[in-house]
Amino acid sequence: MEPQYILIRNNIKNLYIQIKDSSVIVKAPKRFSEKQIETILKEKQKWIEKNLQNSIKKQEREEKYTIEEFTSIVEQNVKELIILTGLKPNRVRIKQIKYAWGSCSSSKNITINRKLICYSQNAIRYVILHELCHLKYMNHSKDFWNLVATYMPNYKEAKKELKD
Ligand SMILES: [Zn+2]
Repeated sequence: MEPQYILIRNNIKNLYIQIKDSSVIVKAPKRFSEKQIETILKEKQKWIEKNLQNSIKKQEREEKYTIEEFTSIVEQNVKELIILTGLKPNRVRIKQIKYAWGSCSSSKNITINRKLICYSQNAIRYVILHELCHLKYMNHSKDFWNLVATYMPNYKEAKKELKD
C-alpha cells in the first residue's frame, strides 16, 4: 500500500517531501503533473517509510504507569507540594489536553495533562509545581521561575524531558 500524502502546490522549483506529525507532506511545483509527482514519490518510498515510522514512534511514547498509579503519583505530589509551598488550588483534575502539560485557571483550578503518564515522576512533579506557582504569579516572569526553582532546583531537567 502506498502511503497517503498531503499535496501542496507552490511556485517553487523543486519537489520537497516533509514528514510532520506522522503525515507525509509533498510540496510540488505547479508545473509538475500528478504522474511526475507519483514517480518521484515511488523513488523516495524507502526514505518516506523510514522517516514516517520514526515519526510515528516518536508520537507513541509508552505509558510508564497504570492510570491508577499515575493518579496516585499526581495526588501524592499535589499533597506534598501544597504543604511545601503553602499554595492551595481549588481543585486538581487529570485530563487529556492538547497544547499544554498543565493549566491553571483564574478560579484556581488546576488541570494536569493525562499524557504525563508517559513521563518520569520528576517531570510530573515539575508540572504540578509549575501550575501551583501560577496561583501566585499568573505569568512566566522572573519571580515565577525563581519560585519554581526554590522548590525544585533541577526543574530545567524536567523541562528538557518534556520537550523530547
Ligand atoms: Zn506556565
